[in-house]
Amino acid sequence: MASNYHIGIDLGGTKIEVAVLDSQDKILFRERLLTEAHLGSEHIFNQIHTLYSKAVKSIQNQSHTLGLGTPGSISKKTHLLKNSNTLCLNGLPLQSLLEDKLVHDIIIENDANCFALAEALMGAGRGYASLFGVIMGTGCGGGIVFDGKIRQGPQNIAGEWGHMVIDPHGSSCYCGANGCVESFISGGGLEKRIKDKTGSTLSAIDFFNMPLKDETLKEIKQDFYVRFGQALANLINILDPDIVVLGGGLSNEKSLYKEGIEEVYARIFNDIPTTPIVRNQLGDSAGVIGSALIGRGLTQ
Ligand SMILES: [Zn+2]
Repeated sequence: MASNYHIGIDLGGTKIEVAVLDSQDKILFRERLLTEAHLGSEHIFNQIHTLYSKAVKSIQNQSHTLGLGTPGSISKKTHLLKNSNTLCLNGLPLQSLLEDKLVHDIIIENDANCFALAEALMGAGRGYASLFGVIMGTGCGGGIVFDGKIRQGPQNIAGEWGHMVIDPHGSSCYCGANGCVESFISGGGLEKRIKDKTGSTLSAIDFFNMPLKDETLKEIKQDFYVRFGQALANLINILDPDIVVLGGGLSNEKSLYKEGIEEVYARIFNDIPTTPIVRNQLGDSAGVIGSALIGRGLTQ
C-alpha cells in the first residue's frame, strides 16, 4: 500500500532538518537542529533520531516513506558513504546504521540531487523536461533531473560538477585534484582565494556587496565570473539542459544573473545561447522537500 506521508531529512554540515509532506506535497511538519559534526557520527545519528521521532509523532505514527539527503553518495559497490564534506561520516554504512537506529527503511540521496528534484517538481524548473540544479554554497554540488526523475548514474556520481578541473594549476582540493570548480566559485573556495591572494578575511557576501577599491579584489571578482562561465558552459555543452537552477548561499548574488550569465553564454557552443539560468524558488526548503520526495521512488 502506498504511503500517504513522506518524511525527508536534510543532513547538512551545519544543520539537520526534517519535514513531513502529505500525498499532495503539502508540508505538515518541519523542524531543524544543529549537526554539531565536531561531536562525531554517533551524535549526528542521535540528532537525526530526535528529529525523526518528532516527525513520526506529528503524523500519529502512520505509515510513511523516509528519505535522507546528504553531501556525497552511497557507493553502489561497498554501500559506504563517500565524498561527503562531513568527513566523520565517510566510510560508514550510513543506510544500515540509520535503518537500525530509526527502525525504518530509508532511501539516501545526494543533497544536490534532492535540491534539483524539488526545484524540478515544485520550484523554478516546473514544466521543463530536463534540469541541472547547481549548488553554490560552502562547496559546489549539482544534480540532474530528466522527466521528473533524478539521474544517478551507475557510479552514483552524475552531476558532480564541483570537482571538474577548470585549471590544473589551481589550488589543491580535498578530492585530490587541483583547480576544481568548487575551489573557484563555491562560497568557501572564493573566501579561500581572497585570503590567499590578499591576506585578508572577507566573507563572500561582503565581497559582493561592498564597493571594491583594491585592484587584486577587482581581479578576483572578474575571474569569478569567468570561472562561473567556464564551469556552467562546460556542462551545458554536454547536457544541454532545458533549464539551470542555482541554489546555495551564493545563488542570491544578483550579479550572477547578469555578469555571470554573460560569461556563460560567451562559452556555449551555439550561435544564440538560450539556456535559462535562474535562481531557485524554494530557497532553504528545497533540500528537505527533495529528501521527502525521493521516498516516492523518483530516481533512475
Ligand atoms: Zn575537488
